[in-house]
Amino acid sequence: DATSLFAELRNKLSPSGNVVSEAGRQRTIELFGEPLTPQQVVERICNDVRDTGRDALLDYSAKLDQKKLTPETMRVSAEELKAAHTKADPEYLKTLRAIRENIIEFQRALLPDDVKILREAGESKIELRQRYLPLKRVGVCIPGGAAAYPSTLLMTAVPAQTAGVKEIVVVVPPTDFGGYNTDILAACYELGITEIYRVGGAQAVAALAYGVEGIERVDKIVGPGNLFVALAKRHVFGEVDIDSIAGPSEVIVLADETANPEFIASDLISQAEHSPGSGVLITWHEPLIEAVRAALIKQLNELPRGDLARQSLLDYGALILSRDADEAARLTDLLATEHLHISTSDPEQMLSKVQNAGAIFMGHYTPVATGDYYAGPSHVLPTGGTARFANGLCSIDFLKRSSVISYNQKGLAQDAPGICLLAEKEGLTAHAASVTIRLKNESQ
Ligand code: NAD
Repeated sequence: DATSLFAELRNKLSPSGNVVSEAGRQRTIELFGEPLTPQQVVERICNDVRDTGRDALLDYSAKLDQKKLTPETMRVSAEELKAAHTKADPEYLKTLRAIRENIIEFQRALLPDDVKILREAGESKIELRQRYLPLKRVGVCIPGGAAAYPSTLLMTAVPAQTAGVKEIVVVVPPTDFGGYNTDILAACYELGITEIYRVGGAQAVAALAYGVEGIERVDKIVGPGNLFVALAKRHVFGEVDIDSIAGPSEVIVLADETANPEFIASDLISQAEHSPGSGVLITWHEPLIEAVRAALIKQLNELPRGDLARQSLLDYGALILSRDADEAARLTDLLATEHLHISTSDPEQMLSKVQNAGAIFMGHYTPVATGDYYAGPSHVLPTGGTARFANGLCSIDFLKRSSVISYNQKGLAQDAPGICLLAEKEGLTAHAASVTIRLKNESQ
């Protein structure tokens, strides 16, 4: 029964369904002297950083990342940044620039203009505006526990820069994949980002949210991370804004008889290699199921990360035969996937049937990797069924908006009866008086 299979998958893939390894559990016991849930761990870390500031931040870094940092080494110096950039492969830097241009082109096109409406009748004048301004200070979490992700730096910081955010702070764990990774540091330098702290996990999120000695608090925290990062973002939400609570990666491939089984197998495996990651094929062309299964077995045997991807597909994958394209679209909407790849002869027609997906990849020659690395939309996307209501990160998320209301006296006189009626119905007579007091010499 596909519906219950999907419910089960969605449950496993939700951020709270994310599993902590046995080593992680042991570390919690060593740290706190008792077994705590990840939620409790995050609460303790965040509260300690809020109450004790930088000492707690450095203390948790030492215990969780085995790195003894000082207030000086916690921040990447200007010399370290320049040195990483000088040492970087010129081809890598050239590619970063090309991707940056792609991101700016797309993210700039998304930015809204201010809105202005004028209601004029005789001498009465009412002007309504919506003003957009960039956030002042944004914190970006770049993961660094198990791999280095310069692409994530691009896909978070460049949309913020495009929106006009002046102060971008990067936090990245003090690891060889993180704050000591020259590819990451060279990318920061290339983007003009100079405020980088070698801290990660829940303690870094708390430092960004509350501020600690040496790190001023930010207005919004964005970027992916493991379960501790995700739960910490949820914990500090309200104190600061956040982008979303991200869980493991997912793709659904919708395919008809024109799809190439080798291509589809590579699409499913490329999500599964995130480990955990989910790959689901839905097709109404029965022979494709067996052809994709055979291609999966062959490709998994050839890949360096094949064992990890195989386990992920066994845990979180599925090959589903639907009755027709309409049923496939309904199932897709149920899972509300992060990535949707439409591998059919007429992808536009299929697109019109689907409502819920974070990012959609059209046709046989648009693998998800185009969006992960290069095209322009951000790869920070809603996961775990949240594409039902949430969106991928974009430049608009770094804007705040204010409404601006402007009346002249005649305009106020015109709207006064309605305002006063509502104010009196609510018993807020001072509200009504604040209008009538201005109309006593209305002839002006
Ligand atoms: P991470 O930087 O998110 O987390 C590492 C930090 O977790 C460490 O610094 C440590 O402080 C903390 N930590 C580890 N074990 C802990 C424990 N037992 N108790 C408390 N804190 C603990 O790096 P990661 O672990 O490599 O995870 C990165 C995640 O981000 C992966 O799941 C990856 O797939 C995901 N990711 C997603 C995207 C995206 O755009 N959706 C992009 C890149 C990475």
